[in-house]
Amino acid sequence: MLIDGARRVAIVPGYGMAVAQAQHAVRDLTNLLNSRGVDVDFAIHPVAGRMPGHMNVLLAEANIPYDKLLEMDQINPQMDTVDIAIVLGANDVVNPVARTDPKSPIAGMPIIDVDKARTAVIIKRSLSPGFAGIPNPLFALDNSLMLFSDGKKAILDIISAVK
Ligand code: NDP
Repeated sequence: MLIDGARRVAIVPGYGMAVAQAQHAVRDLTNLLNSRGVDVDFAIHPVAGRMPGHMNVLLAEANIPYDKLLEMDQINPQMDTVDIAIVLGANDVVNPVARTDPKSPIAGMPIIDVDKARTAVIIKRSLSPGFAGIPNPLFALDNSLMLFSDGKKAILDIISAVK
């Protein structure tokens, strides 16, 4: 239903996309949404995943066009034009405590501001923390929806539902 009303989707991949090997399913979802007139961009955080360029490599492997990969500094000022931010197995890189809690281990780390999208859909298997080991208040915001699932299965389920 959310996708029916969306014009612009931003997919924010993280370490969990790599674990789930969901990049090919993500490409299929992107193509499906494009065929329905929805713009899809990827929001790439510089330390998403476990090595520099991790997300770029996986998305390139799935033939996502390079011009659809937007760096954090490029997408953040546009986040209020994003109808749905799909957070796929990312956690620390979208954790708003980096902005709000000076005592947090990730204080001051720039994050992708998915909390400023109209709706954030967070795909992960549980409420477990990410690499930094801290809770993420994004998950409890009014404009956040949790989709508890393996990342690849969730994307395949969304594709089936949209079809
Ligand atoms: P995080 O490690 O913060 O979070 C990844 C999330 O993925 C987890 O919370 C986990 O939640 C979820 N996940 C794991 N497996 C799956 C699965 N199969 N399907 C769906 N979700 C899954 O990742 P980010 O990319 O957001 O952040 C990277 C972190 O790693 C940062 O803290 C960064 O500093 C650090 N780091 C990065 C390096 C780099 O060079 N890029 C190097 C070293 C560290 P759940 O278990 O609930 O599914």
